[in-house]
Amino acid sequence: MRLLLMGPPGSGKGTQAALLSRRLGIPAISTGDIFRSNLAQKTELGLAAQAYMSRGEYVPDELTDALVRDRLAAADCAEGFLLDGYPRTLGQVTTLDTILKEQGTHLDAVLELSVEVEVLTRRLTERAAIEGRLDDTEEVIRHRQDVYAEQTAPLLALYAGRGLLVTVDGVGTVDDVAQRLAESLRPFVA
Ligand code: AMP
Repeated sequence: MRLLLMGPPGSGKGTQAALLSRRLGIPAISTGDIFRSNLAQKTELGLAAQAYMSRGEYVPDELTDALVRDRLAAADCAEGFLLDGYPRTLGQVTTLDTILKEQGTHLDAVLELSVEVEVLTRRLTERAAIEGRLDDTEEVIRHRQDVYAEQTAPLLALYAGRGLLVTVDGVGTVDDVAQRLAESLRPFVA
């Protein structure tokens, strides 16, 4: 299966992507994780992404698209993948369409985790205390929500128009949400 997992910062995408990838036996690919590990290793990509990430801005499409193109070409993606946090811009949607067309494949579904903004802010503030991410400060948290609303939320309508969007309530325990996601995918699993 070829899936996207979308949702605002703090909606639990990373946690649910890991569970779903195990359940379905496909790799979960988080562009945010790839940027963070590049930054930890001080690679050229990581250093280029750092300034954007620390401000809560999106890394430019050229950099993000190139890394996704490389990652999707890897052997472990041949039978499917779950993209977590990509695409986030209209330009990235176009790039992903091109990559999949070149591969002769297509998306099976786009899963959206829906969570209201007060819950998101609370979750991210709690995570800040635990993980100490450079983009989990109060001001940057707020900005990331705005960037999502402006640049990424409109993509949901686009995928809905293609008949691919499945919206799942992202409020509840990790197990509850995982269960809802699994159920919502049932019609798509042969
Ligand atoms: P995430 O872990 O998905 O919340 O991503 C953390 C940060 O990485 C984002 O705030 C962006 O700065 C950057 N990032 C991750 N994915 C993308 C993407 N698809 N496009 C642009 N920037 C991204």
